[in-house]
Amino acid sequence: MAIQKVAVITGASRGIGAATAKLFAKQGYAVCINYKSNKLAAESIAQAITSDGGRCISIQADVSNETDVTSMFATVDKTLGTVSVLINNAAMLKTQSRLDHMTAARINQVLTTNITSYFLCCREAVKRMSTAYGGDGGVIVNVSSAAARTGSPNEYIDYAASKGAIDTLTKGLSLEVAAEGIRVNCVRPGLIYTDMHSDGGEPQRVERLKNAIPMKRGGQPAEVAEAIYWLASDKSSFATGNFLDLAGGL
Ligand code: NAP
Repeated sequence: MAIQKVAVITGASRGIGAATAKLFAKQGYAVCINYKSNKLAAESIAQAITSDGGRCISIQADVSNETDVTSMFATVDKTLGTVSVLINNAAMLKTQSRLDHMTAARINQVLTTNITSYFLCCREAVKRMSTAYGGDGGVIVNVSSAAARTGSPNEYIDYAASKGAIDTLTKGLSLEVAAEGIRVNCVRPGLIYTDMHSDGGEPQRVERLKNAIPMKRGGQPAEVAEAIYWLASDKSSFATGNFLDLAGGL
C-alpha cells in the first residue's frame, strides 16, 4: 500500500487555509490543521474532513513562536508521519492605518506573525524533506499577497511589507534547496472573500474594491486552494521559485 502523503497547513481554521485543508484531504493527504485561537472553528473543519472519509488532526500552535512550531512538527511526525507538503498560510493584519499612526508594537507583531512564522515552519520542513538530511524531498507553498506588489497604501503597509519578505524568502529558499528534492513556490492572492477583512476593520472591503479588479469580482478561498494544490502536486514538478498571482487581473 502506498504511504499516505502528509500536508501541514498553517492557519487552517478558516478562510483560504480551511479551503486548502479540505481540498488536500479530499485528494488523499493526511492533513494537519493548524490554528492559533479558534479551536471550535478548527474542530469543525476537522469534523467536516473526517465525515468525508479524510484523515486529519488539528493542532493549536502560534506559528510565530519557535517552541510551538517545533512541537507541532514533532506531533505531526508521531501522529501522521513525515511532512511532504508545507503550506505556509497563517497571517494577520491590524486595523487600516497610515504609517504615521503605526506603533512599533503593531509593526513588530505583524512582521513576526507573518514572516518569522514562515521561516520557522520552512526550517522544520527542510530538516525533514531535504535529501541532505536523509529525507525524500517535498514541496513548500508560501501564501503571499498581491499586497507585496501594491504596497497597500493607507491600509496596511506593514502587512504588505511582510508579504514582500515572503516573496524574497520564496526566491532564496527555492535556490538553497533546489538540489535537495524540495520545490518552493508561492501564490499571491488578491481580494478574497474571507474574515481577514473584518480584522482590518472593513468587512465589506472586497465589495468596495471589486470594480477596480479587471475581472470585476472578488475571489473565493477555493480558487486559491486549487492553485496551491497544483503547485504542491507532481503536475508542477519542474516549477520552483515561481509566483502564481490569483488576483483577477490586478
Ligand atoms: P483569515 O481568514 O484571517 O485566517 C487566518 C488564519 O490564520 C486563521 O486560521 C488563524 O487562526 C490563523 N492564524 C493567525 N495567526 C496565527 C498564528 N500566529 N499562528 C497560527 N495560526 C494563526 O485569513 P485568509 O484571508 O484566509 O488569509 C490566508 C492567507 O492568504 C494569509 O497569508 C493572507 O495574508 C493571504 N491573503 C489573503 C487575502 C484575502 O483577501 N483574504 C489576500 C491576499 C493574501 P485563528 O483564527 O485560530 O487564530
